[in-house]
Amino acid sequence: MKRVCLFIVILFSFVSICQAQIAASDFVRFLFQSQFLWDPNWSIQERKDILDVLKGGYEIKLNQSTPNQRAIYQTYFVPLFGTQRMTSVLKFFDQNVNYILKPDQAQVAKSPFTLADNMGIGLWVYHKAGFPSRSQFRFGRKVVTVRDSRAGVMRVYPRFFKSTWHVQFTGLLHEGVHSRCTGGLPQNVIDYVHNRRAGYNMRRCGHPHVKCPPGHKYQGLPACDLHPWGAYGVSGFMAHMIGMACESCDKNSFIATALHFYDRILGKYHGSDFVNAMIQLKLPPPDLSITNEIRP
Ligand SMILES: [Zn+2]
Repeated sequence: MKRVCLFIVILFSFVSICQAQIAASDFVRFLFQSQFLWDPNWSIQERKDILDVLKGGYEIKLNQSTPNQRAIYQTYFVPLFGTQRMTSVLKFFDQNVNYILKPDQAQVAKSPFTLADNMGIGLWVYHKAGFPSRSQFRFGRKVVTVRDSRAGVMRVYPRFFKSTWHVQFTGLLHEGVHSRCTGGLPQNVIDYVHNRRAGYNMRRCGHPHVKCPPGHKYQGLPACDLHPWGAYGVSGFMAHMIGMACESCDKNSFIATALHFYDRILGKYHGSDFVNAMIQLKLPPPDLSITNEIRP
């Protein structure tokens, strides 16, 4: 009996090691295929720290056990990411983030609480509004002009490196969503920016946040979303799905992150908030389509 038990333990260890190695080799393949352009100011250790966050995603195995979970995956997760695997989430990030910038000290001082941001679409709007110098960013010794909505120009701030892994991973995906100009850029945004006026509405181009309403925990801060499948909805949903279905991860931390993001989604869907509408499959389908078109 003891021998059988020992054999099972050895077999289980062997399978675990094999699974870890398969995940690692998948991740190496992903890195070879990825298009990330690294700010030369990053140290090797800092790059490794960011890549380790992504690598952690490869090691997550999802296991949807109930029919309702499988229905949620089919209805929302697959349309968002293409498949039910975590590799698709990583691919989504790769497709939407190209430049990984290290902010300078002045930028860090301006945003002491920011983990990461994505300035790609903002720079593209300046390009469209006829301000070429404001549509540029410095990348090492080069100056890059943004001429495409999906430039994917993400900055990662010092606070990111002090956060827990599940917050970092969710945050990276969140920044990817900000590269999607869904529905096109409204013409009046270009006119407003051209005339140096504030107060324009980007609609879903870049999925910008809106100010949270009076009474909200983040009242007055641009930390809420008007539509369900914006940056908070997509990244919160991913965290929620991992928390529900991962085989070995800190489920509670992922669920807590999801709820923290869901609280920022304003509006009701069939009379329910985001999470209840999603569980009942009543949420409108996700739309993260992308276009460089200018719309009326
Ligand atoms: Zn955001």
